[in-house]
Amino acid sequence: MYFLIFLIAAVLAGFYFYYKSRPETAKIFPAEWEGLLQEHVRFYRNLPKEKQPEFRKRILQFLGETYIDGVETEITDLDKLLIACSAVIPVFGFTEWHYFNLTGVLLYPDYFDEDMQFADTDKDRNIGGLVGSGRFERKMILSRRALRQGFDNTTDKSNTGIHEFVHLIDKMDGSTDGIPEDLLGHQYVIPWVNLMHKSMEEINDDESDIRKYGGTSQAEFFAVVSEYFFERPDLLKNKHPELFEMLQSCFYPKA
Ligand SMILES: [Zn+2]
Repeated sequence: MYFLIFLIAAVLAGFYFYYKSRPETAKIFPAEWEGLLQEHVRFYRNLPKEKQPEFRKRILQFLGETYIDGVETEITDLDKLLIACSAVIPVFGFTEWHYFNLTGVLLYPDYFDEDMQFADTDKDRNIGGLVGSGRFERKMILSRRALRQGFDNTTDKSNTGIHEFVHLIDKMDGSTDGIPEDLLGHQYVIPWVNLMHKSMEEINDDESDIRKYGGTSQAEFFAVVSEYFFERPDLLKNKHPELFEMLQSCFYPKA
């Protein structure tokens, strides 16, 4: 009898401590965010229904781990969501992912120049995002205008947010060189480098539909072709089957 009472008490205590120690991120996804995702994020709309809860969970997890600050601008829910989507989309094929090389994202209202100025300057303001270094190490800077355009235009094969997060993924092995060694697996490194060089040559010879910027360096090629992969997977599969296969095994290792 005493044993039974002890057992019940132990089980109740167990439940109590289990619920008390659950992490903060088990928050409810706000109902109005679901509407924003449906309206603005094609990747989410196209996900099978049963995978959407997992996507929402990963959004909350990312937002729980990363601060987002506006530079001379108020951050809206849509900004937060689009930044989180840019982070989650490229790693959704992994059961778990933490961007340990990122602490925060700074959102600028508009495109900026190399001195990080976005107000009227004489210089070209054409930077939509970047992965910080030096005093901006572990930070990402994004332009709201570029971020929004990336998600609003679903046919142009480009998405600034995804582009910058792919640079972070590339950087995780220590160098931003277009070779995500940890994702590719050793045996695919050389085939990937060869394929990358061949494709960059085609871009630079004007014989490719991959965005010109991808021809400037291996790192940019990887980021640009990944935007294409996540924005227009069917088109990439059709036009560049080898690249598609390689990226598929890189970003969806279990598929
Ligand atoms: Zn880039």
